[in-house]
Parts: sequence; C-alpha cells; structure tokens
Amino acid sequence: MKIRPELMNIVSLEFSSLAKQKVKNAERIISLGLGEPGFPTPLPIIEATHKAMLDGFTRYSIAPGLLELREKIASKLDRDNNIVANPEDIIVTPGAKQALSLALTAILRPGDEVLNIFPCFVSYVPQIVMAEPDVVIRTVDLQRKDFSLDVAALRELISERTRAIVVNFPHNPTGRMLSQSDWNALADLVDEKDIYVLSDEIYDRLNFSGQKHLSPASHEALKHKTVTINGFSKAFSMTGWRIGYLHAPAHLSRTICQIHQHLNTHTATFIQKGASAALDLPESYVESQNIRLRTNADLLVAMLEACDNAYLYAPQGGLFAFVDISRTGIDSDTFATRLLAEKGVALTPGKVFGEAWDSHIRVSLAPDCDSFAEGTKLLVEFLGELESQR
Ligand code: PLP
Repeated sequence: MKIRPELMNIVSLEFSSLAKQKVKNAERIISLGLGEPGFPTPLPIIEATHKAMLDGFTRYSIAPGLLELREKIASKLDRDNNIVANPEDIIVTPGAKQALSLALTAILRPGDEVLNIFPCFVSYVPQIVMAEPDVVIRTVDLQRKDFSLDVAALRELISERTRAIVVNFPHNPTGRMLSQSDWNALADLVDEKDIYVLSDEIYDRLNFSGQKHLSPASHEALKHKTVTINGFSKAFSMTGWRIGYLHAPAHLSRTICQIHQHLNTHTATFIQKGASAALDLPESYVESQNIRLRTNADLLVAMLEACDNAYLYAPQGGLFAFVDISRTGIDSDTFATRLLAEKGVALTPGKVFGEAWDSHIRVSLAPDCDSFAEGTKLLVEFLGELESQR
C-alpha cells in the first residue's frame, strides 16, 4: 500500500461507533452530514438509461466517451463556464474523483511539488500520493475569516518544482465561491510558470448566492494550463451512477485518455446515455435544488447569528456550510460526538478536512427543509447548552 495512514482523514472511533450503534438500535438521527443532494435521480435520466440498455449500449465503446455526450459537455462548458472546449479534449470518467486521479497520474513526476489548499475534500491528499508517492505536498490554508485564497502564502510556496495546484470552487466544505479578485490572483500566480491548475468544479451548478461561478480555464492566462473536472453526481443527484468528466489542454488530454483506457477502458456506456439525458434537463431542475439550498443556508445563517459561540461565513454555493465553533472550547470531534449523543444530529467534524480545521464543523445544506430546520434547531440548542456550561 503506497498510501500513508497519516494521510487518511478519518473521524474518531468514538464518533463512528456511536453512529453505528444508533443506526443498529434504529434510533432516529437527523443527518446534516449528507454529501449528496436529497432529490432522487430525475426520471428522464433513468428512462434514457433503461432505453440505452434495451437498445444494446451494453458493449465496449470508445475510451474518451460517446461523442454525443462529449459534444453536450462541450456546449455546457461553453454556456456555464465560458470555456471553449473541443470534444476531443473531453474525457468521460467514472466520477469526478476518477477524473482528478487520472489528471494527477498524467501530470505528476517524482520530486514534484503540489500545492494543496486546506480545508479540502478528503480525497485530495490520498489521490495525490497514490498518483505519485514521491511528491511533496505544500499546504496552505484558506483565510479564516472569509475562506478566500491566501494569495501571499501561495506565492511564497511556489518554487521551481511546483507542478500543480488543486483548487475547488464552489468549495467543499466552506461553500465559498471563487471571487473575481482570487480568479485573477490565481492567474497571476501561475502566469509564465510550468504549473497546472487542477480545478474541481463538481459543485458549479449549485450556486445560490447569485454570484457568477468563475472557472479558472475561462481566464486567458489559465486556459492552456487548467484541467477542469466536473461530474453529474451533485447537480443531477447521480452520486451512485459514478460518472464525471474532465477537460484538459490538448497536449495533456491524450496522455490522460491513454491512462484512462488502460485503467477503465471507458465509462459504462448506458450510464453515459443517462448522463446525456441529464444535460437535456430544463434549467428549472437545478434551480429548484438551489432554492432549497438557499432556504437552508439562510435559515442556518439567521439561527447562528443568535449564538455567541459560533460564527458562520455565509456559504455561496455547493452543498455545505462550515461553522467556526472555536469559541465553544471543544474540538470538532468532541462537538460532533456529543451532538450526536445528546441531540441525535449527525454532522462532520472539521478535522477531517485538515488538521488545522478542528475548530470547525461542516453542516450539509442538502436535507429537505423540514429536516434541516429540525436539525438546525437542535444544533442551536446544543450550542446554547455549551455556552451555559462554560
Ligand atoms: N470533488 C469534491 C469537492 C467532492 O466534494 C466530491 C464528493 O463529495 C467529489 C469530488 C466526488 O465526485 P464524484 O461523485 O463525481 O466522484
């Protein structure tokens, strides 16, 4: 096993065994931990997949993915992301995770340095190490007040050996979107350097702040250096289907496709037909998800405003909010374990997104509004009790 155990972020045994025990006892848990939308997969996607299976889309196909799907993805990238994409440079993969992994494998060489920004999605560090064990990961934290990029810290870490920077906006776990100034700063940072930007934009359609999503590859200085990673899991409630994609500069897409071919052959053909139907869904489908996310986000912001021991920078997009609980005086694992034990509410300790973020908890905005309101009420009650115990 190449992966070093210290790189695996996990919740404490106490938390996971308590959760297991509660499930075993059939106790009611309100989950504010979900990393997937609450909606079922839309029916037209299921119907198109079913039809594809009956129509014989069950055999070997071409490695990068069905041309019909790649053409639709190219139109989506143009429409939503302002990225001029040639379908030849798009590769359909079994999930966004796999897309990131393939890009890292194609890019990284022994001795390279990768910039990784914490807090981050739990798979980034393991994926970087699996792609190239002899790599140095240089880490930077987001700014604590508003989760913007710490551009000065990033600049300081860039060296001759820096090969890639991994970014993710809308961001898991903070819900922060890339601001115009950070978008420009990112371009300045890598301008004229041999550095790739690996941009995970899995949450790009989940945007409830009205702020425009800015894709790094739409910046003139970044378009030949950015691998854009996306997928169907979050926007279309297709987490179990395992389908995503990437768009890479022409000089890189070929290598990535070769690795993909040897590893996966291609992504399941009938699933690709389902994904193709997803891209035909009316805008109203994603809009209804954003309305729910906004309702939940607004409620959480309003409820936490009344708590002296919690601070929330309002999330703008994605599925999550990241709440600063440092003033409670307890760490994130203890907070999550006690909240589950005392109130039956499950959420994710900040520590799993980076050691330095033990001061935070991640709240999922995905549940239906009634469950979310109930869970938030109990969370606020718990915060009040912690305050009175101090
Ligand atoms: N990237 C981020 C930032 C995520 O939060 C997740 C899932 O939680 C993924 C990628 C995984 O996406 P997929 O299901 O397409 O592999």
